[in-house]
Amino acid sequence: MECLFCKIASRVIPANIIHQDDTVVAFDDIGPKAPQHKIIIPRKHIATLNDISSEDTLLMGHMMETAVTLAKKLNMADAGYRVVMNCNSGGGQTVFHIHMHLLGGRQMTWPPG
Ligand code: AMP
Ligand code: ZN
Repeated sequence: MECLFCKIASRVIPANIIHQDDTVVAFDDIGPKAPQHKIIIPRKHIATLNDISSEDTLLMGHMMETAVTLAKKLNMADAGYRVVMNCNSGGGQTVFHIHMHLLGGRQMTWPPG
């Protein structure tokens, strides 16, 4: 297994895991870009958003639902937060296992860089 996030999901590499279930894992980003910065991944290895298919529809929805549940648990829901997915190098992706960034705890700006 070579993928960093597969290793985190299977506990081969440590991370501060804040939520896990049969299909997704969420943990603290190692280089937080906001006071709250969580990463939500599917246990299934999917390299980029371009690689999802119709069989992943429920999984993608569950990732989004998990992000919202965590935002509420972390008391970010009312003030607001951001969910981001980067695709390929032009989109800023550096780890090639799809993931959602959940960012909050400060005012976000638009457009993103
Ligand atoms: P992206 O640039 O969208 O691919 O995001 C990858 C994210 O993974 C970055 O925000 C990194 O800080 C984060 N990251 C990289 N390695 C680790 C790790 N070992 N544990 C937690 N987060 C990580
Ligand atoms: Zn992976």
